[in-house]
Amino acid sequence: MSEEKKIASIKVDRDSCIGAAPCVAAAGSVFELDAEQKAVLKRKSGERVSDQTGKIDLEDGDISDDTLLAAAQSCPVRAIYLYDESGNQIFPA
Ligand code: SF4
Repeated sequence: MSEEKKIASIKVDRDSCIGAAPCVAAAGSVFELDAEQKAVLKRKSGERVSDQTGKIDLEDGDISDDTLLAAAQSCPVRAIYLYDESGNQIFPA
């Protein structure tokens, strides 16, 4: 891979999420579990949603791509999706 792919947005697939929470352990500034034990993204706006969210719209917009990738990789059911600036899926590859 010649150029590094930067993470621009994130999504949680609520249907797949089983509330196992290693994503919260890996990146608690970004993920938390809601009342249904599904992972949600902590938006700067105060919203807590699983929908696709721009990294810049996260409460912790400065989180490193390595940490986000580690969180996505920690999910046992691959419910965390990462996208680049063009909207292409980076993970799961
Ligand atoms: S690690 Fe995956 S299954 Fe577990 S809470 Fe996070 S998104 Fe859901």
